[in-house]
Amino acid sequence: MKKIFGRPEALTDFPYPYCPGCGHGIVQRLVGEAMDQLGIAGRCIGVTSAGCSVRNWKQFACDMTMGLHGRGPAVATGLKRTAPECIVFTYQGDGDMAAIGTGEIIHAASRCERITVIFVNNAVFGATGGQQAPTTLLGQKTTSFPGGRDPRTGGYPLKMSEMLSLVSPESYIVRVSLHDVKHINQAAKATRRAFEVQMKDEGFSMVEYLSMCPTQWKVNPVQALKWVEEKMIPYYPLGEYGSIRN
Ligand code: SF4
Repeated sequence: MKKIFGRPEALTDFPYPYCPGCGHGIVQRLVGEAMDQLGIAGRCIGVTSAGCSVRNWKQFACDMTMGLHGRGPAVATGLKRTAPECIVFTYQGDGDMAAIGTGEIIHAASRCERITVIFVNNAVFGATGGQQAPTTLLGQKTTSFPGGRDPRTGGYPLKMSEMLSLVSPESYIVRVSLHDVKHINQAAKATRRAFEVQMKDEGFSMVEYLSMCPTQWKVNPVQALKWVEEKMIPYYPLGEYGSIRN
């Protein structure tokens, strides 16, 4: 019988480590598919981060290492400069990249480092208990701000793709969503393109995925999909932001 669907070869069969309805599993699959399609798993090095995303440590069938909290882009810079023949990517959540790691990502982007950043934005600190993140929406209730985010005390949500595109003149920076199949297909295309940009030495590349965290949003997985569509996308518009376009 012809096999028409299966796990990408670039992913291991390590058990799924996330909550039901979490977006991380989709992102990992898209990265694995891109590696398979481009035939690069054998020369990929992934840099995982602090937060729920660290659980992908054993999921990718390529070399993996870990940066201290937020330091992934600095570690990836060192790896890429030392071994330019390798395809180097970071895998970071919004708590990791947009909070403690803001300095590292801005400078890596401004240097147009030839790395690929997989940025999973679910608008909350997932692993530590659902606290407010820099990407938390105005009015969104979290465990640290149960009354909702107030810009007078918590500031405004950071738009990382827009910010980084301003400092990175040679870049492919795109924001995608995971809330339905059509958008997941677009996300797959963007993921592949991001790795191609690195393979062709064109510039820095980053894909920002608007992703679900039903556990810390205190909703069920179906409600989480709607929340991405109805709440996140209006504040975080989808599309290409860098100078390199599809
Ligand atoms: S806490 Fe949220 S981000 Fe973390 S694994 Fe669960 S659903 Fe995913």
